[in-house]
Amino acid sequence: MGARVSPERHSRESGNPEEMDPRLRGGDDGFDRELEDLRAKGLARTLRMSDDGVFNLSSNDYLGLSTHPSVVGGARAALERLGTGGTSSRLLAGTSDLHTSLENRIADFLGKDAAIVFSSGYHANTGILPALLGPSDLVVFDRLCHASIIDGVRLSGAAYAPFAHNDTADLNKVLSRKRKGRRRAVVVTEGFFSMDGDRPPLAEIAGAARLHDALVYLDEAHSIGVTGPNGKGVAWEDKLSDRIDLHVGTLSKALASQGGFVAARRTIIDLLVTRCRSFLFTTALAPACAGASLAALDLLPSLTDRRDRVMGDADELRLGLKKLGYDTLASVSPIVPVWTGSVVSTQKLSGHLLKKGFFVPSIRPPTVSPGEGRVRLSITYREDRRWLKELLAAFESYGERPHREGDRIVQAG
Ligand code: PMP
Repeated sequence: MGARVSPERHSRESGNPEEMDPRLRGGDDGFDRELEDLRAKGLARTLRMSDDGVFNLSSNDYLGLSTHPSVVGGARAALERLGTGGTSSRLLAGTSDLHTSLENRIADFLGKDAAIVFSSGYHANTGILPALLGPSDLVVFDRLCHASIIDGVRLSGAAYAPFAHNDTADLNKVLSRKRKGRRRAVVVTEGFFSMDGDRPPLAEIAGAARLHDALVYLDEAHSIGVTGPNGKGVAWEDKLSDRIDLHVGTLSKALASQGGFVAARRTIIDLLVTRCRSFLFTTALAPACAGASLAALDLLPSLTDRRDRVMGDADELRLGLKKLGYDTLASVSPIVPVWTGSVVSTQKLSGHLLKKGFFVPSIRPPTVSPGEGRVRLSITYREDRRWLKELLAAFESYGERPHREGDRIVQAG
C-alpha cells in the first residue's frame, strides 16, 4: 500500500479546482466578493508608506521625541546591553531591570502604587478588563471609546452598555438601570478622544462612578505627555488622579516607542500579573522600547515649550479652519477632526489635501460610525511653523464645506 495522501494535498497536487480545498482555490469562499463589496463602498483599506515626500499629519509622535537624541540614545543603550528582543514571556525570563525601572517610573509619574507595561496599548486594553471582570460584573463605556477598549469589554464576559459621548446624565441613567445586582462595575472613558479630539467631563464622570460604586478606567493614550503638569495627562490636569482606579496609556505616542501600560493600586497590578492573558502570553516588551520610553519620561518635565507649541498650533489650526467654514467638532487637543460625513466626501477632501502635499487620512467606518466620516489631523511638534499657513491655504482651495446637519445622531446601542 502506498503512502496515504491527505485530501488537501491530493487536490493541490492534482490541480483540479473542483477537488481543491476552497482555501487553496480561492474564489468561491466568498472573500473576493466581500473585499470587492468593501472596495465598491470605499471602505477597503490599503497601506501606504508614510515617508513618501508628503507632509505627514497623522503621526502620534506628539512631542517629536521619536527622533530626539536622548530617546534614541536610551533605546540604543538598552539594545546594546540587552539585545534586540524581549526573548521570553515576562513571567518566565522576560523581565529585565529596564522593565522594572519603567514600571516604577510610570507608577511614580502617575502617583499610583504600581504599574505594568504591555507590548502595546492594544494589549493593555484587551487584557485588563477580562482579567478583572466576569459575567457577574458590569462595564459602562463612552460610546466613542477606542476599538481596543471595546474588544476588552467584549472579552471580559461582563454585562456591558455604552453611554452617550461625554454625557454624564446618560451615564447616570445607564448605571441606575444596570448596576444593581452586579458585583463590580467599571466606567471607561478616555483622556483625549482618539477620533474627536475632545476630552471628558472627568469630575462628573468620577462623581457618577462614585455614586454607583463603580471603578474608573481612564485611557490617556493621546493625552499623557501632551497635557497636564509635566505631561501627566488630563486626570492630573483636572486634579482628579486619585479618582482614577485604572490609569491606562501607551508608550507609542508621546512616549515615542511602543507598548502600553496600566498604573493602579498594588493589589490590582498583582492580580493582573497573575491573570492578565495579554500580559502573560506574549513576549516581553523589547528592551529598546523600554529604554526609549524611560528616556522620554525623563525629558517630559523639560518639555513645557513643546507641549505649549503643539496645543497652540492645534488651536491656531482649528481657528483657521472654522474661519474657512469647516466643522472641527468639539476638539480641544492636538487631534483635529474635520467633519465630512459621507465616505465619498471624506475621501474627496483627503485626496484634495494629498494633491496639495499633505497626508491627512480619511477616517471611515468602522473606525467611526456610518455617516460620521471625517479627515483627522494630528498635530505634532515641529520647529518650523510654515506648514500651518500652507495647510490652511490647501483647505481654503477646496471647493466644498461639508457640514453636519443638526446634531450628530448619538447611538446608545
Ligand atoms: N487607546 C487609544 C485611545 C488609542 O487611540 C490607541 C491607538 N491609537 C490605543 C489605545 C492602542 O495603543 P497602541 O497603538 O499602543 O496599541
